[in-house]
Amino acid sequence: MSATPLVSQVDFNPEKSEFIPPLLGASLAELTTWVQQQGQPAYRGKQLHEWIYDKGVRSLADISVFSKQWRKEVAEIPIGRSILHYRSEAPDGTVKYLLRLTDGQIIETVGIPTFAERAEGPKARLTVCVSTQVGCPMACDFCATGKGGYKRNLARHEIIDQVLTVQEDFQQRVSNVVFMGLGEPLLNTENVLAALKSLNQDVGIGQRSLTVSTVGIRDRIRQFAQNNLQITLAVSLHAPNQALREKLVPSARAYPLNDLLAECREYVEITGRRVTFEYILLAGVNDLSEHALELSKCLRGFQSHVNLIPYNPIQEVDYKRPNRDRIQAFVNVLKQQQIAVSVRYSRGLEADAACGQLRASK
Ligand code: SAH
Repeated sequence: MSATPLVSQVDFNPEKSEFIPPLLGASLAELTTWVQQQGQPAYRGKQLHEWIYDKGVRSLADISVFSKQWRKEVAEIPIGRSILHYRSEAPDGTVKYLLRLTDGQIIETVGIPTFAERAEGPKARLTVCVSTQVGCPMACDFCATGKGGYKRNLARHEIIDQVLTVQEDFQQRVSNVVFMGLGEPLLNTENVLAALKSLNQDVGIGQRSLTVSTVGIRDRIRQFAQNNLQITLAVSLHAPNQALREKLVPSARAYPLNDLLAECREYVEITGRRVTFEYILLAGVNDLSEHALELSKCLRGFQSHVNLIPYNPIQEVDYKRPNRDRIQAFVNVLKQQQIAVSVRYSRGLEADAACGQLRASK
């Protein structure tokens, strides 16, 4: 009997006719149906699910609870794990991984260990920053990823694999996933939604611990909202007016700030969840008190939270990070205006693994 491939998943390489969709990303129900199609009893589906998501098996041939005969038959069906190409650890414990995909493309993933303060004492957390594309077509002026151009979307298994890789390396369960690595997630909505579903249901990460960051693609935020998810949406705003935003984020020309903010308001209405606005701080460019005031006007009455990201240096441009006093002054204006605000001091700077520094190179 020959193995039937699982066909329900979004195929990342449709031109390649011999391509067999990998199993990673398939639900328990889908895996159970699949094993039954192979003439196996239903409980093998549960075993397969455990081996893929909990034990991190890389080949069906290695699943020792399956019969030798069947393992041989299905040995060619890929699970969809990538190969670790390079690993480097920053002094703050942040680990950067370069992963090689089946077509030779390299992507970057970051594992960020943190402690969350709880009443009962600090709790270890592990956040993974995942890529959603090879490269990025958005070309934001301050971001290293865009400087290298764009290759392709990642398939759902290539997104989930990044989380399993970090989980295995740290020998610790991943508590949070942020879609803030290479790429623009909302240009790859179908695979990102499939990966979110699987990370929640198969890997076991709570929806509220999943964050998708976007620069804003027209109509996609609404489309995302209609999926009834409880995930966190983060929108990269970076400027409080259209003229400045266009300079920093070229896609803003085609999708003006007011339209983006209107769609974000719809998101809040549909999901009941607040939106996080990311705002990179570039000295002398968008970090003045007048910018903070203008930003608070944009967000007045909006169920939102501002996350300020002091600029992390990249080679190609000569922006500067504001000093701590300037950052604090910006925070103070927002607070005075009753805007919820936090500052993200990026981790992993020393390993070029911080926000905006990812370019899939060592
Ligand atoms: N494309 C998505 C997700 C990737 S970037 C987006 O734009 O939201 C994740 C965050 O890092 C974004 O807010 C991005 O604007 C920010 N970022 C990019 N370059 C940066 C840099 N050099 N320093 C600090 N943050 C940066």
